[in-house]
Amino acid sequence: MKTVRYALLEAIGKQWVVGVDMWAMAFFGVCVVANFAVGYFRPDLFGIVVLVGLPVAFAISFFGDEVFYRGVRCPACKERLNYFKNGKRVPSKQAFAQLREGGRCRHCGWEPTATSLLRFN
Ligand SMILES: [Zn+2]
Repeated sequence: MKTVRYALLEAIGKQWVVGVDMWAMAFFGVCVVANFAVGYFRPDLFGIVVLVGLPVAFAISFFGDEVFYRGVRCPACKERLNYFKNGKRVPSKQAFAQLREGGRCRHCGWEPTATSLLRFN
């Protein structure tokens, strides 16, 4: 799997926020496997791991979404980078493209410095 790099996120040390959804999926995958393992030894408990794991996976995914929108802030003006000036959330596709290209902060014009972008070339 090719790792997509996000210039803006790396510049502010928040690269991990884009991986949270993947971790939620991985966690659920582990739950499905564990469910069969538990069911093998305790057939009466078959299904319980998935029943518990599904809402937890959703919670992790929801948390990732919240961090992506509320936690990714401009280091200069502290505004949320994935929000428009009118307070609306930037559609995720557009937000990801912007983070990848290391675009400017739409609130104050801050952009990742040359040194933080140098590693991408
Ligand atoms: Zn800013």
